[in-house]
Amino acid sequence: MDEPKKIHYLKIEDCSRCTGADPKQMYEALLNFSGVELIFESHFSVHVFMCSDCTQRWICVWTEIIEWEGGHDSLYTSILPVTDPEAEELIAQRNEVSMNKVEELGQSRRWLQRDYCNGEIRVRWMDGDLRILEV
Ligand SMILES: [Zn+2]
Repeated sequence: MDEPKKIHYLKIEDCSRCTGADPKQMYEALLNFSGVELIFESHFSVHVFMCSDCTQRWICVWTEIIEWEGGHDSLYTSILPVTDPEAEELIAQRNEVSMNKVEELGQSRRWLQRDYCNGEIRVRWMDGDLRILEV
């Protein structure tokens, strides 16, 4: 018999501010969490945020793709829950933070995706298979 899937990377599974909230609400909440900046470039940034309620940590990777042929630039944000030891490991890498490691962690977890494409914003929970677009 299968064991119930334990979500070991989450501090609590139903934090009203981050893990259980609707994706848009989670994204808005994230903007107010305190964070550690690892990379901050004009088209690429990486931060580790901490939920102000449950102290769950989230790594947030933001990429802007310039559309040279006119039209809107596209923005991609990937927000992945990480354990404290994982957060410390990523923070210790500072601006060398490994996107391979982030993708590896995101293969089997729920993560939040926010896209801004063609003038439309889309925010949704994704199930595993995290890919980071790098510019
Ligand atoms: Zn939380």
